[in-house]
Amino acid sequence: MKYKLYLILVLICASCVPNKKDSNEINIYSQRHYKVDEIQYKNFEELTGIKVNVTKANADELIQRMKNEGENSPADLFITVDVGKLWQGSDMNLFQKISDDFDYENIDPDLLDPNNFWVPLTYRSRVIVYSNDRVDKNELSTYEDLANEKWKNRLLVRSSSNAYNQALMSSLIANLGYEETSKWSEAVVSNFARDPKGSDRDQVKAIAAGQGDIAIVNSYYIGLLLSSEKEEEINAGKSVSVFFPNQGEDERGAHINVSGIAITKNAPNKENAIKLIKYLTSVNAQKTYVNNSYEYSVNPSVEPDEIVQKWGDFKKDPLDLNMLGIKRNDAIRIFDKTGWK
Ligand code: FE
Repeated sequence: MKYKLYLILVLICASCVPNKKDSNEINIYSQRHYKVDEIQYKNFEELTGIKVNVTKANADELIQRMKNEGENSPADLFITVDVGKLWQGSDMNLFQKISDDFDYENIDPDLLDPNNFWVPLTYRSRVIVYSNDRVDKNELSTYEDLANEKWKNRLLVRSSSNAYNQALMSSLIANLGYEETSKWSEAVVSNFARDPKGSDRDQVKAIAAGQGDIAIVNSYYIGLLLSSEKEEEINAGKSVSVFFPNQGEDERGAHINVSGIAITKNAPNKENAIKLIKYLTSVNAQKTYVNNSYEYSVNPSVEPDEIVQKWGDFKKDPLDLNMLGIKRNDAIRIFDKTGWK
C-alpha cells in the first residue's frame, strides 16, 4: 500500500515538472520579409498542429539577441536572406550541426553548407536590370564591366549597409582578390547616377523615372513588381529587362545568395525544428516559394514561376557560399575606403 502511494506521488510529480522539450510549438527568429512566409507557416501549422511563433528583425539584431540570451534563448531556428549571416552565426557558435544523415528532399548539392550548419531554403541572383528604352542588351556583359566609364551617371544601386551588396562585394573579393575589387568599387562609385538610397525596388522605379539606366538588384524584386497591385510598380517592372552577368563561356556565372535556415545551439524544440526544415524544403513548400516570392527553388526539379522562366536559365557562380560571410569584413572595408555610401 505504502509503495503504491509512493509510485503515484512520483508519477504526479513527474507530470508537474515543466517539460522544456517537445512542446507543441516552435520559435523562429527570422530576417525574411516576404508575404510568402505567412502562407508557409500557416500550412505547416495546419499539417502538424505545431504552432509557429515568429520574431522578425534584421539579421544583426537577431544574432545579437541569440548571443545575449545564450543557453536560455527560446529560439529554435534562425532564418536569413543572406548566407553571410548564416556563416557568421555558425562562426559565433550559435548553431548546432544538422545531422549528416538528414534526408533533404533533393536539394542541389552546390547550394548546401559543406559544414552542415545551415540549410538553403531558396536562392536568388543579384542581377543587372536595364532600361528597355535607353540600353541595348549587347552593351552589358559582366559585373566587372560596371566599372566601365560608359556607365558614368547611369548606374543605380542601394547603400553599402545592405547585406545583398555586401554579399556581392564578398563574392568579387573571393573571385578577383582584394586589390582588384577595390579598384572596381572605386570606378563603380564614380559611375553612380545618384547617392545610394532606397530599396532594390526603388532602383527599378528610378530607372522608370529616368534617373538612371541600369541597376543592381535581386532577381525576385522584378517578379514582385510585375505582379504588384499598384500600377506604378507594374510599370516600373515593365520598363526594365533582367540581365544575368558573367555568362560567357569562360565566365564564372552570376552571383547568387541563399535564404537559409539554421537550428540554434540549444533549440528547446529541436524535433519540431527539424520537421519545419523538412517541410520548407519539400516539393510542395518549394513550389509555394517560387510562385509567391519569385525566388529560385533549391530543388532543381521545381521550376521557377512563369514570370521568372521568361528570363531564361543562367549559369551560377560556383563559389563556396560561406565565402560570402568569410570575406564580409573585407567587403565593408572596401565600401568605406571607396566612398560607397
Ligand atoms: Fe529581399
